[in-house]
Amino acid sequence: MKQRNTMIPTLRETPADAEVKSHQLLLRAGYIRQNASGIYSFLPLGKKVLKKVEDIIREELDAAGAVELLMPALQPSELWKESGRWGTYGPELMRMNDRHNREFALGATHEEVITSLVRDEVKSYKRLPLTLYQIQTKFRDEKRPRFGLLRGREFIMKDAYSFHASKESLDEAYDKLFQAYSNIFTRCGLNFRAVIADSGAMGGKDTHEFMVLSEVGEDTIAYSDSSDYAANIEMAEVIDCYTESSEDLQETEKVSTPDRKTIEEVASFLKIEKERCVKSLLFKVDDEFILVLSRGDHEINDIKLKNELNAQVVEIASPEETKEILGCEVGSIGPCSLDEKVKVIADQAVKYIRNGVCGANEEGYHFLNVNPERDFTVSQYADLRFIKEGDASPDGQGKIVFAKGIEVGHVFKLGTRYSDAMNSTFLDENGRAQSILMGCYGIGVSRTLAAVAEQFNDENGLVWPTNLTPYDLHLIPINMKDDLQSSLANELYEEFKSNRIDVLMDDRAERPGVKFADSDLIGLPIRITVGKKAGDGIVEVKVRKTGDMLEVHKDDLLAKIQELLQS
Ligand code: ATP
Ligand code: MG
Repeated sequence: MKQRNTMIPTLRETPADAEVKSHQLLLRAGYIRQNASGIYSFLPLGKKVLKKVEDIIREELDAAGAVELLMPALQPSELWKESGRWGTYGPELMRMNDRHNREFALGATHEEVITSLVRDEVKSYKRLPLTLYQIQTKFRDEKRPRFGLLRGREFIMKDAYSFHASKESLDEAYDKLFQAYSNIFTRCGLNFRAVIADSGAMGGKDTHEFMVLSEVGEDTIAYSDSSDYAANIEMAEVIDCYTESSEDLQETEKVSTPDRKTIEEVASFLKIEKERCVKSLLFKVDDEFILVLSRGDHEINDIKLKNELNAQVVEIASPEETKEILGCEVGSIGPCSLDEKVKVIADQAVKYIRNGVCGANEEGYHFLNVNPERDFTVSQYADLRFIKEGDASPDGQGKIVFAKGIEVGHVFKLGTRYSDAMNSTFLDENGRAQSILMGCYGIGVSRTLAAVAEQFNDENGLVWPTNLTPYDLHLIPINMKDDLQSSLANELYEEFKSNRIDVLMDDRAERPGVKFADSDLIGLPIRITVGKKAGDGIVEVKVRKTGDMLEVHKDDLLAKIQELLQS
């Protein structure tokens, strides 16, 4: 491609509203442009990289036995009402009415559409298992679209869905897709981890997220420093390996703690460690108020709480509700002498507290020397807290460390969540109708592109790995008006093209400095400069990643380039 025939609008300045490297560089190097918040055009370079990511995904999914189809983005509300998500999905779902005032949504995900499709077309166990996928634009009215392609409101997703007659068959497909995902992200050159995740609003049990390790990631991954254990911090299990204290039980005492509300304030006022404090939080769990206890240096994880209590909605009670139920301000509440209407549950670490401190349910007072069982009743102990760095890894190997991650993919075992709701059944070998088991598997295609850009760059611009680069090499004649230079450049251009090397030639009448800066910014793996030595058939080759430069004669160039592209 000749640069004058395409559109690569590079920018000198970093756009003010672009916070992260991938967003800045994809804008500056002319890969994408914003149309509205969270909505982007892929310019020719961006589109080429996107296609390469898609091709890798297609190759790996096809090899795993999945079959591509394409479903509509526009979805009638009836389907979402059948699954029950028209009411629960919330404002992220973009809804609209047609001219007949019928309700539609722009597809945020396609469980409903595919379940209805398979329900109508697959009736027998003989047609199962089946794995279908599509690569398509999705719409989600995100609360905070940000970081360019990393969190858009319109973005490209690969979504796959598998259908099964048995749990074993679902497990098998899950493992295959899991492996395909590992291959995909490895081929993209990404530094990633597959982490245990929460199934969230989707329903279903076994689920993993594929996380690219990155400072700009919005998720926190807890992983072991000495095994391959990794989990989303929301899910990472804390094992009960606290030590029993040998302290004698002391007598409880009520003390005044004026204006001390937080654990920090109370602990420092009473000159005790935070570990000794019982932190009490009143939660509203579906419609019931529950007092949840943890150790003062621990944080309650509401996802664990929700899963433990099998609840739909878990939220912290408002200060007004707390006052109404417990009769005092949030900072003074505690588990002692509560009447029976408030159930108390606690993180397992609380069981080991000896002679602790807790709120006295009286404004400005705390109890000293409280002990579980003796001074307050806990109806249930469970693992309810967030894991911390330094905690033991749940697999028993090593300690937990944290890293930030960008979720690029997600694999789920849905079970019969959608087939039950939408009555999608098959006839088994005995002619009995059974619900189809399902799995679903997503990859953020445009987010993956951005994650690659986030990982592959330096101070001068993007540095594409060879299998995702928009063009293999950048051919730069210094001066197109120089006949020797332009004819050698054109000769090389044709030679590369006929040898299936995808070449971008900068045929613009720009100064060399501008051409070089743009070339670094765009980030193709190899730059070839045709300059003063064109008359001798000599060009300069620069490897973008290492900065290595060498002079090569045109007769040896093709072989050299092929070697470099392979390495
Ligand atoms: P997130 O927690 O980041 O919002 P999600 O759990 O909502 O992601 P899924 O519903 O599992 O995501 O969607 C499948 C994949 O689509 C995700 O793994 C992610 O890579 C991608 N994705 C989700 N939301 C966006 C978005 N707003 N912009 C770009 N990619 C997205
Ligand atoms: Mg989301």
